[in-house]
Amino acid sequence: MSQNLPPGVSPADIDRHFGGPTHEHEWEPVERDYPILEDMAAIFHERCVWAEVVNSYTDRQRDEVYYEYGRECDETRWRRFDLAYATELTGDEYPELQLDRGDINRLEEQDAELFDTIVEAVIEAEQAFPNETEIVEIDADPEQGQVVIRHDGFEFGYGPGVTDDE
Ligand SMILES: [Zn+2]
Repeated sequence: MSQNLPPGVSPADIDRHFGGPTHEHEWEPVERDYPILEDMAAIFHERCVWAEVVNSYTDRQRDEVYYEYGRECDETRWRRFDLAYATELTGDEYPELQLDRGDINRLEEQDAELFDTIVEAVIEAEQAFPNETEIVEIDADPEQGQVVIRHDGFEFGYGPGVTDDE
C-alpha cells in the first residue's frame, strides 16, 4: 500500500476506508448532468466512481480487455457555484443591464427596488430550471466551469466561488 504517509504515521494508524488515500477521486454527477439551482447557487451532487482494478483479462479473439474490480470508493460531495452575475436582456437597442455579484450585494445593502426585481427573477428562473429555461452552458469544472441560463428576459451566470467546500 501507500508509503507516502506523513512522518510518524504508520500504516496501522490509518483508518483505511474505501479507497482511502490511495487514489484521486474520480467525480461524476449523481444521476444527472445538471446541477440543482436554489438560493442563488448552482449545486452539483457528485460521487466518486473510482474502483480498484484487481485483475484484468485480455480476450485475444475480440481484442478486448476485461477488468475485475475490488474495492470501490463511496465518497460523494456537494459542490457549489454562486450566482456571479445577472444580465437583463433588453435587446440590441438598449444597453443590457449587467450586474455582477458585488453590484447585487450593494443593491441589497441599499435596500434597492432593483434588488427585489433581480432576486424574484433569479427565483423564477431557478424554479423553471431546467426544462423551462434556456440553458446556455453547463460546465462543472471546479475552477473554470460555469452555469449560464436564460429565463424571462434575464441571463444568470453561476461560477465557482469562495464558498467551495473543497
Ligand atoms: Zn474516490
